[in-house]
Amino acid sequence: MVGAGPVGLFSAYFAHLHGLKVALLESLPELGGQPAALYPNKVIQDIPVFRDIKSFELTEKLCSNLSDDTDIYRNYKVENIIFDNSHFIINDDLISKTILITTGNGAFKPKAFPLAVPDNIESKISYFVKNPQDYQDKQVAVLGGGDSALDWALELSQYAKVSLIHRRNQFRGLESNVEKVKKNPKVSVLTPYLPADLTENSGRCELSLKKVGTDETNSFIFDNLIVAYGFRANNRFIKKWGIELENDLIKVDRKMETSVKGIFAAGDSVGYEGRVPIIGIGFGEAQIAITSIMQTIFPDKQLTIHSTSI
Ligand SMILES: Cc1cc2nc3c(=O)[nH]c(=O)nc-3n(C[C@H](O)[C@H](O)[C@H](O)COP(=O)(O)OP(=O)(O)OC[C@H]3O[C@@H](n4cnc5c(N)ncnc54)[C@H](O)[C@@H]3O)c2cc1C
Repeated sequence: MVGAGPVGLFSAYFAHLHGLKVALLESLPELGGQPAALYPNKVIQDIPVFRDIKSFELTEKLCSNLSDDTDIYRNYKVENIIFDNSHFIINDDLISKTILITTGNGAFKPKAFPLAVPDNIESKISYFVKNPQDYQDKQVAVLGGGDSALDWALELSQYAKVSLIHRRNQFRGLESNVEKVKKNPKVSVLTPYLPADLTENSGRCELSLKKVGTDETNSFIFDNLIVAYGFRANNRFIKKWGIELENDLIKVDRKMETSVKGIFAAGDSVGYEGRVPIIGIGFGEAQIAITSIMQTIFPDKQLTIHSTSI
């Protein structure tokens, strides 16, 4: 498995359940992908079975389900895959009969804050919230209008006074979170505003905001700015492996097989009409992909479909 986000972790568990030997390859030092790295404290409400579960708990559960004989490679970025006779060679040092790509958005990189940041307040600008408790009693600006911005505004409002700043009056995120934000007395919604200037004011951030479509500007003082303008996906390295992409996402057939026979893909790295980038969908795709991998490796075997029969 290339990538140990939620889909890679579940795939490794499911593959082991079906008797496959698994190596899990992850470029980051930590397992868990986006939920672990980008929103560990968020309460997820749309994972089947769990009515709600914090992201870090989901990661813990997925990791604890891994079998002891799963080979886990951390800090291991897959750069090259070549096909040699009957197997694939990964980075010139690992050999596998089939590969499942679960690289999600690839190596994610946040979209940068658009203004010059004075050196002495550079440390006040963040792109991720690791520990919301670090913002206890602070005045925090969250910039952005998507899911991350809404999530962080809600999470931080338990500890800090939050201003959510977006260039439009409408938000792109989950409707129920938009409603929660609007009703939350600890979140002020500042729209439609664009950041116009950032200066230092007694060690704090003075952010000047321009009201969109007018000449009006207003200045606000914040202890911290959280920039949540989204992420640039980088999965283009996959093209080097000879795999066909469409809009930077991997094309798969109904068996979750890519354009290269023997290489399968599941999760957010995959694109097809109607796909929604959420974890539950990736889990289902992982089950299809592992079943297809079983059929590829053991074409003559009568497959066991239900875990109750294994
Ligand atoms: C703020 C936010 C909130 C969200 N909220 C929800 C929610 O409430 N419910 C929900 O279902 N979904 C939610 N999502 C979406 C969800 O996080 C993704 O759908 C999910 O993480 C996709 O899982 P994945 O395993 O496919 O990819 P990822 O989580 O992106 O994991 C991919 C892993 O592959 C690794 N990798 C990449 N390239 C390589 C390489 N070349 N070699 C080795 N490793 C590599 C990466 O480091 C990463 O660990 C949210 C996303 C965000 C950003």
